[in-house]
Amino acid sequence: MGGTFNLGKVFGIQLRLHYSWFIIFALLAFALVAPHWSSGFWWGIGITTCLLFFASVIAHELAHSLVGRANGIPIKSITLFIFGGIAQMTKEAASPNAELKMAAAGPACSAAIGGMCFLIWFFNSGMPAPVASMVWWLMFMNLALATFNMIPGFPLDGGRVLRATLWRFTGDYKRSTLIATRVGEGVGYTFIAGGIVIVFLNPFGLSWFTGLWIAFIGWFLKNAASNSYRQAQWRQALKRFTAAQVMTVNCPVVPADVTLNQVVQEYIIPSGCRLFMVADMGKLEGILPLQSIKPVSQQNWGVTQVREIMIPIDKLKVADSGQDALNILEQMDESDTNQMLVASEGRVIGVIARDDLITFLRTRAELGI
Ligand SMILES: [Zn+2]
Repeated sequence: MGGTFNLGKVFGIQLRLHYSWFIIFALLAFALVAPHWSSGFWWGIGITTCLLFFASVIAHELAHSLVGRANGIPIKSITLFIFGGIAQMTKEAASPNAELKMAAAGPACSAAIGGMCFLIWFFNSGMPAPVASMVWWLMFMNLALATFNMIPGFPLDGGRVLRATLWRFTGDYKRSTLIATRVGEGVGYTFIAGGIVIVFLNPFGLSWFTGLWIAFIGWFLKNAASNSYRQAQWRQALKRFTAAQVMTVNCPVVPADVTLNQVVQEYIIPSGCRLFMVADMGKLEGILPLQSIKPVSQQNWGVTQVREIMIPIDKLKVADSGQDALNILEQMDESDTNQMLVASEGRVIGVIARDDLITFLRTRAELGI
């Protein structure tokens, strides 16, 4: 997701914040402070509530992540954005049980925090009004987070629970994903339709703003469902191929000591290739993807040698030629790399770039094979 910045690491998981989060932050603070503009105390309460809610969303995502990790699903990062958070997995769950536990952990955590806030609110009737209202809002927001995420449309948590349950009973991962996705898209369209009705008819005194907001959430859900399904399909498709089938074998070889000017003029433009092997005296030294050249300013192309910007061979991961392509994609995600060498019997026989995997599937799809 673009437009994010790093907040640091928790339990070894990278935490990121998307700028859209600030919209939620502002709306929540506004709801709390609006009736008491002039009171500094209320401002303090408003901001504290936002920060505590922020911590609640992190707790929700951490619950997913830690339960996932305990069930063999590595989590690389958590991104907080306008609709909550997303935990980025580098691997899909291997069993329905693992997926079910991981998916349910987040809403369970939010429901527990909400429940705790309710108890605090219920048993402390003597609390000052601003504190009581903070606790009440935290309860409401956490319960809303749990409820919204339990809507049974993929890729929401509830959709994952639905998929895991169907998968468990039918044993058919693909079909279960399809059904959970269709429900997700259906929920999205329902929200859009409901939002439009609210904008024009204002039932139950709901404002046009609420309608717009609901329609916007629906649009987001519909897209998320379709995109997640496409990704799931891609991953399934990759499983059917081996490294040897998807790798590029005819990468042109460039010498390590030529300048970028020479590489661009003599190799890249005439060949149209995007990935090159770098060799010195017949020995493989590394690889040169097109992306490595882009950051070097053109003025320096005449004085920069390929050797200086190539990815050296000892930094590259090596896949076995028989390894399945999905496994390779997962390894790339885990190690944050975009290329891997393919070896057979100790000899490098090709290279796989991340883009190649998608191009490979697209080409096959276009040919209908
Ligand atoms: Zn969740």
